[in-house]
Amino acid sequence: IKASVIEGDKFEDELPEEQLQKMEISALQKLQDERKTLPIYTYREELLQAVRDHQILVIVGETGSGKTTQIPQYLHEAGYTKHGKVGCTQPRRVAAMSVAKRVSEEMGVKLGHEVGYSIRFEDCTSEKTVLKYMTDGMLLREFLSEPDLASYSVVMVDEAHERTLSTDILFGLVKDIVRFRSDLKLLISSATLDAEKFSDYFDSAPIFKIPGRRFPVEIHYTKAPEADYLDAAVVTILQIHVTQPPGDILVFFTGQEEIETAEEILKHRTQGLGSKIAELIICPIYANLPTDLQAKIFEPTPEYARKVVLATNIAETSLTIDGIKYVIDPGFCKMKSYNPRTGMESLLITPISKASAMQRAGRSGRTGPGKCFRLYTSYNYHHDLDDNTVPEIQRTNLANVVLTLKSLGIHDLLHFDFMDPPPSEALLKALELLFALNALNNRGELTKAGRRMAEFPLDPMVSKMIVASDKYKCSEEIISIAAMLSVGNSIFYRPKDKQVHADNARMNFHTGNVGDHIALLKVYSSWKETNFSTQWCYENYIQVRSMKRARDIRDQLEGLLERVEIELVSNPNDLEVIKKAITSGFFHHSARLQKSGSYRTVKNPQTVHIHPSSGLAQVLPRWVVYHELVLTTKEYMRQVTELKPEWLVEIAPHYYQLKDVEDPGSKKMPRGKGRADMD
Ligand code: ADP
Ligand code: MG
Repeated sequence: IKASVIEGDKFEDELPEEQLQKMEISALQKLQDERKTLPIYTYREELLQAVRDHQILVIVGETGSGKTTQIPQYLHEAGYTKHGKVGCTQPRRVAAMSVAKRVSEEMGVKLGHEVGYSIRFEDCTSEKTVLKYMTDGMLLREFLSEPDLASYSVVMVDEAHERTLSTDILFGLVKDIVRFRSDLKLLISSATLDAEKFSDYFDSAPIFKIPGRRFPVEIHYTKAPEADYLDAAVVTILQIHVTQPPGDILVFFTGQEEIETAEEILKHRTQGLGSKIAELIICPIYANLPTDLQAKIFEPTPEYARKVVLATNIAETSLTIDGIKYVIDPGFCKMKSYNPRTGMESLLITPISKASAMQRAGRSGRTGPGKCFRLYTSYNYHHDLDDNTVPEIQRTNLANVVLTLKSLGIHDLLHFDFMDPPPSEALLKALELLFALNALNNRGELTKAGRRMAEFPLDPMVSKMIVASDKYKCSEEIISIAAMLSVGNSIFYRPKDKQVHADNARMNFHTGNVGDHIALLKVYSSWKETNFSTQWCYENYIQVRSMKRARDIRDQLEGLLERVEIELVSNPNDLEVIKKAITSGFFHHSARLQKSGSYRTVKNPQTVHIHPSSGLAQVLPRWVVYHELVLTTKEYMRQVTELKPEWLVEIAPHYYQLKDVEDPGSKKMPRGKGRADMD
């Protein structure tokens, strides 16, 4: 094998320089020709004229018309990058990366040079970068270091219809700066037609409509509700594959787990199809999918095969995949929900809105007539689905945003210019939490700890845990844990045919019932001890890609520690102080065991359970802190660590009193017994 690789290399090296250039030029030419076929191309001059004439412009055009990839290039060609960057925000990091990559190819430049992207924990830009794609959250953070966005000549808030929390906050901030930066152009672009709302908000900015091409889409509903939409989706994929004319399939799932399950079932069931049926190429796409695999969805489908893209919401409007003729829409998405009364946030699988269903169906009719199979009834669609998705700002925890706004010097949050204001209870809850975390003082001003916390692009509870590690002298350990938590739930790998082995390997890290946070720390430290060995990851059923990402994140957290002047100190053997640092961030997320074996959260009593994947699921400690709640069949706590109740009073005396953590009725018990029970 080795010999042939060397030969291959040689072959490429020995290709005459001239010929190589010619190949590149013809590929570039092809991309240039493709650019001219996009709907937006016809309106290039008019669009540029409108940008010249107006400081703020709302742009509306269907998904795939070329807004994201073309407008920044047009602006560059028209000279807008001579005195500043063009920044284009995306709600999702996969979209920011993938679009930047595409645009760099169209411009024939190396990604990260003239065209780059910036997403949390990954900055792929350089001094040269003039077209910068980034998540909306990253632009929000840029305000911290550059409050007037002086280095930008144009800001394009793209996919505005998604109304993510960061986009909504950006609206208020950019609206304010265009008033005193008359040289800054602001573009708000959206895939849906309700642009009037954006125009109204931005002082009646003109709306530029890019007429789309749309082919008819035939909509099919199921006759009766589906009990198991995942299975129904798989059956529908196979039916389309076997009975329908050529054309690729796009299926919407709610997240990575579902996509992986569907992929596995599909692979299994297509094995038996025989050679008469065309090959089915399965392409998953979700936020945590490694970059090299993401590119696969854009590869043209070979003639003899059919592609099926298993996607999250990302393919609804953020990414356009050419060649889709069939869409399967189970009708669900994963959504954050927040109860401002209790301050509880949870991820749950919810029915989509009619607007989403329409977008999804539209994905099949871009290049020709399409078909959309909705895995719900027509009655469901008409009677049960909401018209529009509620903007994120109205269904989320605002602590992070409030901390950012406070760091920007915006104190009067109740009068911030929100397009749709959040419930005032949610604002108050956020202030309360930040106060409890000691990020704000009782006048609502940022404290020293708060200023330190705001430096970390993390949830305030995680940032607080890091800041607290200074006091407990275990910052090395805590940033490893924070990095591992940031990677999400993709550390452990559990192949269907080796579940027992995988579970045993996982439980090794839980020896001594140390809890999930410490187990994550052990995984990281053990990997580090092997000098970041890939082989070690395989042997322990750990995803090497996730680990590399954790290492990247950890490196950056290390840099940020230095910035906020927290010393890197290691204290690997004192698990108690590590757990206390965790509790300092997460005391808000504490729960106590009930007789029934379930748990009750302490401050806002609610019944919760330890997630089955937790190392403590069988142990059931009396008191725990958890990282997050997820609602599936039950309300589950994910990433759980045992704590001692007296820590709560010690760490957050302004939040917990003795009566909160004492056992009910313990006073009546003989003193000795009550105490023994508690420890
Ligand atoms: P819009 O923003 O209006 O939805 P885009 O600019 O994203 O449209 O897409 C325009 C075209 O560029 C589409 O046909 C799409 O297929 C293509 N495209 C976008 N990103 C990529 C990519 N990463 N790889 C290949 N093609 C892409
Ligand atoms: Mg777009």
